[in-house]
This record gives sequence, structure tokens and C-alpha cells, in this order.
Amino acid sequence: MDRLRELFALVEVNGTTTAKAIQARIASSGICLDDFRLASTMAKLKALGKRKIDFAGFSALVGEELLMLSRAFKRQLVIPDWQEFCTDIETVFKHVAPDRSGSNADYIPILRDADPEKWGVAICSVDGQRMGLGDVDVYHSIQSVSKPLTYAFGLAREGVEFINQFVGVEPSGRPFNSLELLPDQRPFNPCVNAGAIMMAGLVASGTPELDARQITQTIMDLWANLSGGIAPVRFSEETMLSERETAHNNFAIAYLLRGGRGLPRDVDLHKMMDVYLSCCSIEMNAQMLSIAAATLANGGVCPITGQQVLSTDVVKKTLSVMQASGLYDNAGTFTLEVGLPAKSGVAGAVMVVIPNLMGFATFSPRLDAYGNSVRGVSFCAQLVDRFTFHIYDSLSGGRSGCKRDPRASQHSRKQRDLTDLRWAVSHGDRYATKVRDLMLDCMVAITLADGEIEAPEIASMAEAYAEIMGERPDPQDLQALAEATQAQGAEAPFDALLERLRQELPLLDDNGRELILESAFRVACADGEIEPEEDLQLRAIARALAINEGVLELEIARFQRRLTRPS
Ligand code: GLU
Repeated sequence: MDRLRELFALVEVNGTTTAKAIQARIASSGICLDDFRLASTMAKLKALGKRKIDFAGFSALVGEELLMLSRAFKRQLVIPDWQEFCTDIETVFKHVAPDRSGSNADYIPILRDADPEKWGVAICSVDGQRMGLGDVDVYHSIQSVSKPLTYAFGLAREGVEFINQFVGVEPSGRPFNSLELLPDQRPFNPCVNAGAIMMAGLVASGTPELDARQITQTIMDLWANLSGGIAPVRFSEETMLSERETAHNNFAIAYLLRGGRGLPRDVDLHKMMDVYLSCCSIEMNAQMLSIAAATLANGGVCPITGQQVLSTDVVKKTLSVMQASGLYDNAGTFTLEVGLPAKSGVAGAVMVVIPNLMGFATFSPRLDAYGNSVRGVSFCAQLVDRFTFHIYDSLSGGRSGCKRDPRASQHSRKQRDLTDLRWAVSHGDRYATKVRDLMLDCMVAITLADGEIEAPEIASMAEAYAEIMGERPDPQDLQALAEATQAQGAEAPFDALLERLRQELPLLDDNGRELILESAFRVACADGEIEPEEDLQLRAIARALAINEGVLELEIARFQRRLTRPS
């Protein structure tokens, strides 16, 4: 079929379609309807109103932005199943929401009085697929989230050699506002106050003709480009004035820097401080920060405008610094647990980059002892517990705790592995046969849990097996297997199963373990619900297979959604 016709077929009913159907298809791919890349298509659709659109009309409509439209229509974006991914994220979002520990920063009124209940998560993929949950439109000062980008700004303008003379790149292991410096009197890195103050001085010293506010404006312009111009980058005078009134410690740092190696190009200390404090007082929201993070994840090219905002080399250096020092003196633990470049700020934002996949930003004002948003850090940890997003998850050698991976490339790899496994079973491969046998054992043990084997149970077992392995087993064989298991006298076939799974575990890779859990899952859910007893069984099987509890929860939530979704 002609490729244009293929696209049309995705939205057509009886030879015509509507603007609404086209918009729905685009939106479900994760592309927003106000995306600049589809602006002219959207304008034409709007003009059409409710009118029916035939193939000729469709062709005329989409020509100009065909490539983008085609990728969205055919789910060829970096996260192909965007809807599924969004609902998984929602599960994590809700999981974190009840956490009310920590407290707002209280050194200035505007932060002290911010609503601590606010909680938002925004995501933007490197293909510009976007989602937002909760308070993602609330503007807040970006505070220390500004620091890595002031560094990037300086790197882009001055080059790394010049910047290196004034600011180090070593993790400090000390609180963000520490007065301590490296032995050569340079600040440890650009993500702690001393380094960011020096960076402000470097930037300010490069344009002596501009005042502090104008210099801040050039950095705000960078933020606007990074965030694709979806909303204005604001400046909070109130924050700036309070910051200046309370900046005694930061002034101490500034004097120390001037007394040590001296300030770059003899920049005025007060101007340097004004630029630093102004950068903290820039206001953005989580939606905007998520796009900025996605621009970094995408090597400096903003996913929704296509603009190369920073060079890839500058982004590489910026991410390296964020990875080593982005979360104050908790950066080492964060790298261990989450393994992603990130930057937090005391207003409650965390901006996180997953290179080549997406950026995200969280907002929740209550902070932990290190000054990081409690919910933000917890969201990151829970996300990485469920998805293979930790930088070293790629090391897992097929044993990641069966974490999910929404990337298109991984999706096709999974399909291929599954096809291979099916094929290998049919040829008697030892490993594949083991997985197959354990799947059957799981199904039987769950079926026998109520002590009997009924014909409908055998039928649903056969059905589940056929769906997974693509081959329908003989119900009589299943019946015989179940009877044999029962006859072995194992009073508790389920306990025996768990023991067997634990024994076999060292030999099973993620694919095998996933299939075994899936077979258990399908049998447990065959009657259309997961009863408390079945829930316990599934959790026990997941534990025996060393599958992360969070991953199982995603699976259960997906199943429940399928039940409630109108077909
Ligand atoms: N304005 C704050 C300060 O310099 C920023 C702190 C932060 O977000 O870490 O103290």
C-alpha cells in the first residue's frame, strides 16, 4: 500500500477521518498538539473544524510536516508505547505522593511560605514526547538548578581551559555552602556555591559593558532556548531581594575567592554576586525544566524546536559535572542509587537527564537534610528500581531484576529474544526447555493452590501458554502434569515450586524469569481479577525469581487498567 494511504488507514473510518481523530492519534504518541513541529498541520486541522476529511484532503493536509506526522502516527518515536509508559510513571508518581517528610527551605520568606504540598513530575523524551503529572505549571525559583547551566554558558563562551583555571571539577563531599576550597584555592566544582559564584564572576567578567541584570538576561535566554520557548522564563525580584539580604555566607565565599586566586579579569565582587543571586532567582516550572533536561539528554539539540542550543561537547562536560556533584554532598549516594546526572535546588526542583532517552523534572518543596527535594529524590530512586535507567544497568548481563525498558531498541530486542526462545524450545534447547518447564510448573502450582484441577482451569492454562509461547499445548498433557504434581503428594505444591525457582535462579536470565512470572500472572488473572491470595502468590514468585517488587507492581497496575479500560 502507498505509504500515505497506510497513514490514512490509521485514522480512517469508512473512507474519511476527522481533525479530532488525527489529533488523537498524534497526542497518544506523546507529541503535544502545540508542538512547533506540527504547527502548520494543527492550524489546518483547526480551520477544518468538524468537517470530514477524505484521502485527498488528508494528503493535502499533512504534506509539509509529513516526516514528523508519520513518526508520530506509526509510533516510531524513542518510546514507542508512550501511553503505557505514562501510566507506569503515574504509578510511581502516586507511590511517592504520600511522603510528607522533610521541610521547606526557610532562609527566605518566599521559600519558607511556598505550599509544601505541591508535587509535580514532567517528562520530555529526546523525540519531544511530553507528559506532566500534578503541579508542573507552578513557577518556582530554580536556585541551584541554575548552576550547571551557568557552567555550560561559561564553557560555551570561554572554552574549557580558561574556565578550568578558576573552577575545579571535583566532587566536594561537603555542604553546598561550604567555604572550603581545593588546595590550589579553586572551588571544588561549579555545582557548589563557591564554584557557581566563581562561574558568575567569569560570565560577568566577559561582558563588562552589561550590568548584572542584563547578564542574567543572557543566561535566561539560554534557559528559554533549552526549554523550547514553551513558556516565558521569569525573574523573581522578591527572591533576588531576599537572597541578597541573607547572602552573608555567599559574600564570605566571594571575599575568600577574591583573596585567594583573585577574581577573573578583576570583575567587581558585587556584580559577580548579583549575577550569582539573580541566576538563583530565575523562575521556571517543571514542564520547562523537563524540556531543558531533554535538550541535555539530546546532546544539546532541543527536541521540540530542533535548535542546537549547546554543543555536544559542552553538554558532555556539563553532564559529567552534574553526575559527580549535582546533589550536594549526597551526590555519591545518588550516583550509586540512581546513577544519573541531575541537579537539585532548594526551592524543591530536581532536574534529571537520561542520556539519549529523556529528561525529567520534579517539583516538591520539602527538602531532606542535604537540601534535596525528598519526593524528587524518592521518585528518582523508585523510577530506577523499575526501569533500566541507571547508567550501569547496561552492565546487568541479562539480570537487572527484570526492570522495564521503554526504548524502541529494547522493545525489538525483547521480541527477538522471545522468538528465539520459542524456536529453541521446539528444538529441545536445554535452557529454553528449562524455562518452559518452570513456566508450566508455575501454572500448575497456582492452579492447584485451591486443591483441585477443574477443566476451565486447564483450558485457561492452555490459553495462557499459547499466548506466551505461540503454540497450544494439548490440554490432556496439562491435565496429566497437574495430576502428577498432585500425586507427588506435595501437600504444598506452591512451596515446592518456590524452592525450585530459587534453586534454578542462578541459571535464569531476565527474559526467562519474565516469562515465568508472566505465565504465573496470566493464570492468576485468568478469572479477571487478582484475589488477595493470588497477589501473595505472585509476590512470592517474583521474590523467588529476584524480580524487583516495583516491577511487579507496575505489572499488577497494568493488568488492573486493562480490566477497567472500556474495550
Ligand atoms: N540561593 C541559594 C544559596 O546560594 C541557592 C541554594 C541552592 O539551591 O542550593 O544559598
